[in-house]
Formats: sequence, structure tokens, C-alpha cells
Amino acid sequence: KARGRGVFEVFRPELAVAEQRHKELKAELLVALDNDEFILYYQPQYEVASGALLGFEALIRWQHPSRGLLDPGYFIAVAEETGLIVRLGAWVIGEACRAANSWGGDIRVAVNVSAVQLCQKSFVADTIVALEEIGFRPDLLEVEVTETVLLEDTPEIVNALTALRRAGVRVALDDFGTGYSSLLYLRRLPFDSIKIDQAFVGDLETSPDAASIVATIIQLARSFRATTIAEGVEEPGQLAQLRSLGCDIAQGFHFSRPLPLEAALQLIAAGSCHAKGELVRKTPLH
Ligand code: C2E
Ligand code: MG
Ligand code: MG
Ligand code: MG
Repeated sequence: KARGRGVFEVFRPELAVAEQRHKELKAELLVALDNDEFILYYQPQYEVASGALLGFEALIRWQHPSRGLLDPGYFIAVAEETGLIVRLGAWVIGEACRAANSWGGDIRVAVNVSAVQLCQKSFVADTIVALEEIGFRPDLLEVEVTETVLLEDTPEIVNALTALRRAGVRVALDDFGTGYSSLLYLRRLPFDSIKIDQAFVGDLETSPDAASIVATIIQLARSFRATTIAEGVEEPGQLAQLRSLGCDIAQGFHFSRPLPLEAALQLIAAGSCHAKGELVRKTPLH
């Protein structure tokens, strides 16, 4: 009635259910943080030209007590909305840097950071303190932000990213090509890497348009002296195309799914055996 005459609203039970579910999720997330129910998976990133293992992207999972392992798609948005992402994100950075510190060598780790985190006044200082406490080299940490982060167009975000780079931390633009006004942001804020969205990579073999978009992104990145990282590489043919287009780094199911820490460690160990020419066969040949 408050909306005036002639306005009808249908009661939609599914909306009420969704709202209730949302509330429950908020409460559950708080408990989950206190109970250490989050875990990082690590997806390897390879240099396209040499095939060398360069590092890993850390991807969060929630080990839900009754619903099993949950992808970030289920909870990151709610964590952002409630501000819980600040605590969660700080945990991600610490956890990823501690893990990568134990990997040794020059193996890098990339973490995804949301706009809510970047807007926190203390974000940069907290990150630098965490790096110092862990004793992890800043240039082995890459912070991934999406184009939508930049759409908010707040000076705080630009300042935070600039300060991070000044401290030696690498900054990557994630999901590139899916947002808007990309060129403007690229000019204002130089990135160390540009991640080519998996939508383009997935269509590389079937769509000439996708191939020319990828070629253009790679040229563009070069002109900004940024590294290109292709995400969602699933097929050998996609990798071959990326190689011929001059893409620097690739990740995706073709190489490996995101792995638990133990499996990531095994991958590193296997790789360093190769590098030293001491390829050890773990299972004997029969
Ligand atoms: P993203 O950073 O663009 O990560 C890539 C997503 O693609 C990951 O999904 C990854 O598991 C998936 N992926 C990797 N290779 C392939 C492939 O070959 N094919 C296909 N189809 N998918 C592939 P995931 O882990 O579900 O993460 C989804 C998004 O959640 C991430 O997108 C990122 O934006 C966000 N996210 C993940 N971890 C965190 C975190 O710690 N903090 C924040 N703020 N966001 C996170
Ligand atoms: Mg997923
Ligand atoms: Mg990412
Ligand atoms: Mg992405």
C-alpha cells in the first residue's frame, strides 16, 4: 500500500528463502573464521616458452563441516558484503606467504584481493608487516585485482596499489577483457601482469575473434611492459596458440587443477629434480 494505488507486489517465497539463507551464511562465515575452516588450494603457473614452473595462484576453499569443500563462488560475495573479507583476506595473504616461503627458490605466489580490502586504510601497512614477519620477499608476492575493483575508481585503491608496487609487491590485473574502460585504467595504473580471462582462452581454437582479442591483449601488455598470464588453459591446442602469440605465462586444467598444499609441494619437488638433472622415478618400472 505504501507504494500507492495500482501497485501490486506478489509475495515470492523463494525471495524470503534466499534472504534467510543469506543470513545463515553470514553467521556461518563468522564461526568458520574462528574455527579455521578455510584452506588454500594452489594452482601452478608455468612459463609458456620454457615450461618452467614459476609459481602458484592461491585460491580459497571452505571446508564446510556438513557441505564439504566449497568454492569461493559460494561465499566471497557475502564475505565482502559483511566486511568479513578483511579478516579472511588478511588470513589468505599470511597463509599464502608462509606456504610460499617454505617452497624456497624463486617460486612465487599470487593472491586474489578484493576492493573492500584495498579500501582499508591499513591494508598496505598490514601486508608489508606480514611479509616482514614471515621473512618473505615482496617481489615473490603478486596481488591480483579484478577490473571491477578499478571501476569503483576511488583514489584509495589506486594509492594502495601504487604503494604496494613501491614496496616491491607485484600487482596483476585479473580477468582482463571482461570489464570496461580498460585502457584508461591501464594508463593510470601500470600493472606488472595482465591476466587474460579464461573466456577468451577457452574460445581460442574455435573463434578467430577470440584469437585476435588475445593477440591484441598481448600486444597491449607489451606496450605497458606487463607480463601476460593466460588463465583457464584446458587444451594443448590453446597452449600452442598462446605460445605462438607470445603469451608469457599460463595456468589451467591442462597443466593442473588447483592443488592442496601437499600436492603443490610434490610438484615443486618433482620440478626441482628435473632441473638438477636428477630425475628420480618414484614408482619403479616393472
Ligand atoms: P580467479 O582469480 O579468476 O580464479 C580462476 C578460477 O578459475 C578459479 O576458480 C580456478 O579454480 C578456476 N580455473 C583454473 N583453471 C581453470 C580451467 O582450466 N578451466 C576452468 N573452467 N576453470 C579454471 P575458483 O577457485 O572457484 O575461484 C573463483 C574466483 O574466486 C577467483 O577467480 C577469484 O576471483 C575468487 N577468489 C578465489 N580465492 C580468493 C581469495 O582468497 N580472496 C578473494 N577475494 N577472492 C578469491
Ligand atoms: Mg571453481
Ligand atoms: Mg585470480
Ligand atoms: Mg581470473
